[in-house]
Amino acid sequence: MSAQPSTYEFKSEARQLLDLVIHSLYSHKDVFLRELISNASDALDRLRFAAVTDQSIETGDLEIRIEPKVHEGSGARSLVISDNGVGMSRDEVIENLGTIARSGTKAFMEAMAEQKTAEGGSMESLIGQFGVGFYSAFMVAGEVTVITRKAGEAGATRWHSSGDGAYTVEDGSREAHGTTIILHLREADEENDLEDFTQDYVLRKTIKKYSDFVTYPIKVRTERQERERDEEGNLKEDGEVKTVVEWPVVNSMKAIWTRNPAEVEEEEYTEFYKHISRDWGEPLERISIRTEGTFQYSALLFIPENPPFDLYYRDIKYGLQLYVNRVLIMERCEDLLPSWMRFVKGVVDSPDLSLNVSREMLQEDRRVAQIRKRVVKKTLDTLKTLQANEREKYEAFWKAFGQVLKEGMATDYDARDKLKPLLMFESSAEGVDLTDLAGYVERMPEDQEAIYYITGERRSVVESSPHMEALKARGYEVLFLTDPVDEIMVDHLTEFEGKAIKSVGKGEVELGSEEERKAAEEARAEKQKAHASLLEYLQKALDEKIKEVRLSSRLKDSAVCLVGGENDMSPQMERILRSANQAPPVVKRILEINPDHPVLATMQSLYDTNAEDPKLADFTDLLYGQALLAEGSPLPDPAGFSRKVANLMANI
Ligand code: ADP
Ligand code: MG
Repeated sequence: MSAQPSTYEFKSEARQLLDLVIHSLYSHKDVFLRELISNASDALDRLRFAAVTDQSIETGDLEIRIEPKVHEGSGARSLVISDNGVGMSRDEVIENLGTIARSGTKAFMEAMAEQKTAEGGSMESLIGQFGVGFYSAFMVAGEVTVITRKAGEAGATRWHSSGDGAYTVEDGSREAHGTTIILHLREADEENDLEDFTQDYVLRKTIKKYSDFVTYPIKVRTERQERERDEEGNLKEDGEVKTVVEWPVVNSMKAIWTRNPAEVEEEEYTEFYKHISRDWGEPLERISIRTEGTFQYSALLFIPENPPFDLYYRDIKYGLQLYVNRVLIMERCEDLLPSWMRFVKGVVDSPDLSLNVSREMLQEDRRVAQIRKRVVKKTLDTLKTLQANEREKYEAFWKAFGQVLKEGMATDYDARDKLKPLLMFESSAEGVDLTDLAGYVERMPEDQEAIYYITGERRSVVESSPHMEALKARGYEVLFLTDPVDEIMVDHLTEFEGKAIKSVGKGEVELGSEEERKAAEEARAEKQKAHASLLEYLQKALDEKIKEVRLSSRLKDSAVCLVGGENDMSPQMERILRSANQAPPVVKRILEINPDHPVLATMQSLYDTNAEDPKLADFTDLLYGQALLAEGSPLPDPAGFSRKVANLMANI
């Protein structure tokens, strides 16, 4: 044992890191507390393990104490963080605090070297992605003293450094095993985000933020002046003023996800949910995941009841909280959720991940991908169960979050098959408010082969659309897709349980049995022949607007409608793109005329009498206009249209 302090140089890597920590303008200075608490918590864990095999070690009440101090004369401030954990021997102090042995920090140094060579890289962003462990103490302290005593040893060691490349080690004294870290705080500088860490509320806030679920009590020393009271508890006029010292526990200690769900009250889950989600309401559903085996992790997830206001903001921040052994290392880890699952709140905790891990490292970590896969599967399974067993609840969920699931259909190839049965639709079926595809298939008449849908702006518009007529007449159900996102989604929704999913507004509709279809086709061909001259006339007159005029097999009452080619963009999609300030390519559509409508005969006879009759030209415009109106599209010349209608009415 040496009585004299010995001076050591930091190993070069450590010195580099220290320089960086001290001289960078890293804005999240408060993480130093997270790092020191996490080290203390580790030391308590290790003591607990050591005590299992070594009977001579007494654990007592394991705890972390934090004591703010302000020197009365000089105003110098310090913060003392101590634990009664496993402590360090002299050699361990030199090894642990003088070098960088940890893989996380090594990776950090490497990333830093890379960043230096990369153009425009900023140190600050880099440090932000890593925890920097013990050295982060120098972000807030000009000098750091460590007094530590290893469990089972009699002597203590004192380590001291001003972060200037060297540190000293000498004998110290400590009553019991554990570690005390004294931070000689730099001057508070709110402008540079350096808060006054001797303030009780600053400490509480920071502990709550990062270390609430550390499983050991974190006690913060408080002091207040109190005047003596009499027997009845009233303040005594001339009573003595005394200083009352208390050590309240600041963290909740509830690593709720590691507890046996049977032993956790529902209210506790709700509290926890509110804490992490900042939602006022209760969660709709809770999901627990626990794994044992080579890669351990647990997750506690929640599906909220109501969507947050920013669910559809482009730059919404989402993700699960990521803990390593109950220490929060990332507030929102996006890599754990696909973006369409951004409504899910919760935590993932794995003792197998590294505490000092960067965002980039997480992205590439196979284990993170593994957790994400499981999270997605479990969430989808939960929704499936909800849909099957608690329909009302599921429908409420659907109303709140259906749109993001549809987004998933459109963007996430891997999830598509599982999402499909979860989709809900409004429908033309009587007494059906919302249906899933399975429900639709169940109601399908025997002769129906495909699943039909119609897209449009509003239910009232699509409901009475001419496109619906033939299907209605046959008693076929049609799904109403009136969400803007539906247009994008249906592109990826082509089949369900072997049945084609078809738009009633695109391509040809072929209904009924083969014979029926054949007969209808023949009848139509005949009419087509009979009206060939008129159809040709119309085609010419409307050539700029449409690509084809043909007789329809989908109309029953209406005279005309417009349909798209099998792969054409729908008018609804066009409207969406236009309202998003995009200029979609103009797609010419097909004008279908009801072969059984008297309008056809009227126009044919007009044509036969005098193909130059201006009335015929007006009727042609009216015919096209009607088709546009029926599907909710704007008229190119509304005033002209209404003038023609008025003329027609006056001449009856
Ligand atoms: P990490 O925690 O990732 O290992 P740190 O820089 O935070 O890196 O700490 C370095 C090492 O110092 C720890 O691994 C541990 O061995 C030792 N150490 C730090 N704080 C304590 C403490 N309170 N009690 C015991 N050992 C500690
Ligand atoms: Mg650490």
